[in-house]
Amino acid sequence: MPLTEYRKKRRFEVTSEPSGEQLPPGKTAKALRYVIQKHRASHLHYDFRLEWNDVLLSWAVPKGPSLDPSVKRLAAQVEDHPLDYADFEGAIPAGEYGGGTVMVWDKGTWSPEVPDVDEALNNGELKFRLNGKKLKGSWVLVRIRGFGRSERPSWLLIKHRDPFASKRDMTGEEPRSAISNRTLAEIARDGGGDVARAATGDPPAG
Ligand code: MN
Repeated sequence: MPLTEYRKKRRFEVTSEPSGEQLPPGKTAKALRYVIQKHRASHLHYDFRLEWNDVLLSWAVPKGPSLDPSVKRLAAQVEDHPLDYADFEGAIPAGEYGGGTVMVWDKGTWSPEVPDVDEALNNGELKFRLNGKKLKGSWVLVRIRGFGRSERPSWLLIKHRDPFASKRDMTGEEPRSAISNRTLAEIARDGGGDVARAATGDPPAG
């Protein structure tokens, strides 16, 4: 690893110098998409998605992300989604899979903090940086169970200590869409969905 010493001397969460992450042969540097979709389905959850190998790797996070490094949020890995799903915001008809209301809660790009993403995923520990409208800085996904073929893998989503860590309640303080500024209820209304049910995922009107 010729860049080991270079990297060891720098804290890339603080400096804007390049970390020199290696790219697969033939691939050019391209920003990888990141999105979190707030989804009022049978249960409210946050779908965390990272672009990798032309799909969106996806995890359902029941409580949503926390900026507090002492808080570990369960993230159940779900099926890969197509890349253009990152732009989906609207109502899914009742009775259909995932029926309910979907909001693009945060959107931006991500970059790995490991030299080999596939290896990190296989090993169950992926370190990465988010550059979203709401979430930024260094995070980690750690697999806790379900490795193998039968069970759906469970991971923990954890904020690393860096200047973006805080005790702020982001999901509570910034409940609106990152692309349309709408609430879940407004998205449901515009999409012909169940407004009252969607509203149960919004903060109480004050
Ligand atoms: Mn979902």
